[in-house]
Amino acid sequence: MVEQKFVGFKCKACGRVMNPKHDRCLTCKGTEFEEVELPKVGKLITYTKLYALPVGIEMPPLTLGIADFGGVRVLGQLTTDDPKIGMLLKPVWGKLRKLNDKDIYGFKFEPL
Ligand SMILES: [Zn+2]
Repeated sequence: MVEQKFVGFKCKACGRVMNPKHDRCLTCKGTEFEEVELPKVGKLITYTKLYALPVGIEMPPLTLGIADFGGVRVLGQLTTDDPKIGMLLKPVWGKLRKLNDKDIYGFKFEPL
């Protein structure tokens, strides 16, 4: 498992920063991006708990949140079952789920 960097993808045409990366910029449909660093701490904007989960995700409920990292809104799994709007979160790399017996890794958000 290779640890990944938590980055944003900045549109070279209009400057919009997105995470995850899209094929085309959501603002101007540009197709060229550069990686930019995102702040190490984000703020929880909203969250939801999912009880009906795709195969391979253990232990419902799954708590998903949207956090703001310097103006970039990122969707991710939360490590807490008791999120509070406005709480500060940091991205941590870890196992998200199992898919066809393969572990899938990605960023989760952990309260500070
Ligand atoms: Zn753009």
